[in-house]
Amino acid sequence: MTETPRTPETRPTTAPASSRSGAVRSTGPAQVRPATEGWTQLKDAEGRPLLQFASPKRGKPPVHLADLTPAERVEKVKELGLPGFRAKQLSTHYFRHYTSDAAEMTDLPADTREQLVAGMLPPLLTEVRRLETDRGDTIKFLWRLHDGALVESVLMRYPGRITLCVSSQAGCGMNCPFCATGQAGLTRNMSTAEIIEQIVRANRLIAEGGLGGKTLRQSQGPGQTPERVSNIVFMGMGEPLANYKRVMDAVRSMVAPQPDGLGMSARGITISTVGLVPAIKKLADEGIPVTFALSLHAPDDHLRDELIPVNSRWKVDEALDAAYDYYAKTGRRVSIEYALIKDMNDHAWRADLLADKLNERGRGWVHVNPIPLNPTPGSIWTSSDKDVTDEFVRRLNDAGIPTTLRDTRGKEIDGACGQLVATTEDEASSAAMA
Ligand code: SF4
Repeated sequence: MTETPRTPETRPTTAPASSRSGAVRSTGPAQVRPATEGWTQLKDAEGRPLLQFASPKRGKPPVHLADLTPAERVEKVKELGLPGFRAKQLSTHYFRHYTSDAAEMTDLPADTREQLVAGMLPPLLTEVRRLETDRGDTIKFLWRLHDGALVESVLMRYPGRITLCVSSQAGCGMNCPFCATGQAGLTRNMSTAEIIEQIVRANRLIAEGGLGGKTLRQSQGPGQTPERVSNIVFMGMGEPLANYKRVMDAVRSMVAPQPDGLGMSARGITISTVGLVPAIKKLADEGIPVTFALSLHAPDDHLRDELIPVNSRWKVDEALDAAYDYYAKTGRRVSIEYALIKDMNDHAWRADLLADKLNERGRGWVHVNPIPLNPTPGSIWTSSDKDVTDEFVRRLNDAGIPTTLRDTRGKEIDGACGQLVATTEDEASSAAMA
């Protein structure tokens, strides 16, 4: 994050001690209120944090094979004056061998290779910077899009899986006061192919042995398939459900069998939202069993209105009802993401209120992932004390809500959720390469 640290602002809480009793505490633990640090939140005419749902009009990225259905790919190849079956060959190169390099496509006629690639696989992402941590097991990529917009993805190797955190928008219009991505507002929606290309480029790097220093041969035991990204989380830049159609088209390409798509398991794909209720309902009806995560961060509207501005549109109970509906329709257990912020949302009564609200809707449908923040001295956006964190987790577990502290991999390189932003330095690197 790039904000200037401020002195924490505190005041006694007057929050309800229990959701059921409605009792109110007059004194109690400190209550830090959300505020931006070092930047000014855009406001609407009524003085509320501005929400941008529509993507500003900018030049569209070139149409790419991954933007098209298999039938449309055949048509496009024919439009280029080439036989339709070449579309399948190109898809195999792209979705199975992760290449857009005509020189590697030796099964295609030499005289038309360049033309096919130029027409079907135009360059979408230019790598501006790559940062590594965890001895190479975590890599953050900064990409420049065709119009100069910058986005990021983070690749993480865990025991038994490789996860890629992808961006779905350049910037974000949801304006959360803690989030570096939202500071500049929404630049534009990413295209389906720009979303897919992040995965293809990551798979290419893995195949070349670039993740955690493993070579392809080392990662390939006898009878094993080569390693590749196994899990996708839509927790990079942007609110995925605000770019619904392109995100869902990308998900369809991820789960389509090779070579029409990447042949991934829907269960390994997590779509995370701050609570765009109509889109959650639509997602529940898609019939694609992705994992659904709601970034809640507060169980009471009083706090969440300030912490997550979209709460002014859809309240906590509406978001939880939609999340429950997702479970009821898909049978997929829902994740509740909850960043624990010292003296802001980490109070014991909030753990109890969250447990009440979840249990009111049923049992076994949800689990909670509290996310510990990094300690940031002087900032109001700092980590909860360990005993407070433990108490928060204990109360939820005791109430029968499975709760596990989430891994915060990538914090060292500002690659964690809500921290992805193009810094001035990134802009400079990009300009130097343009
Ligand atoms: S936290 Fe998520 S929804 Fe909020 S501004 Fe950041 S990227 Fe957008």
